[in-house]
Amino acid sequence: MGLGSFFKKNKEDKVKEQSEDCHIDINCDDCEICEKCVIACPNNVLAVIDSKTSVRNSFGCKRCKVCESICPNDCIKVN
Ligand code: SF4
Ligand code: SF4
Repeated sequence: MGLGSFFKKNKEDKVKEQSEDCHIDINCDDCEICEKCVIACPNNVLAVIDSKTSVRNSFGCKRCKVCESICPNDCIKVN
């Protein structure tokens, strides 16, 4: 495994790990990757990773639901 793929795998594992018990659900089927939620989140919780809107730091989420409100396709649910 090269260094590049090692870091990529680590990043994927971290995102997977956080999304498994994450309280933020993103419906990627309806997501257009407009990044409105990414920009609007005051706590830098969301990110587009590998062309997919993802939760990069669920622990930083304050459940303000700004992301839910701003999404034009209603694809985010904060539980
Ligand atoms: S609920 Fe608020 S803090 Fe949590 S991801 Fe959405 S915008 Fe960010
Ligand atoms: S605002 Fe909605 S459609 Fe846009 S990137 Fe976020 S989840 Fe996807």
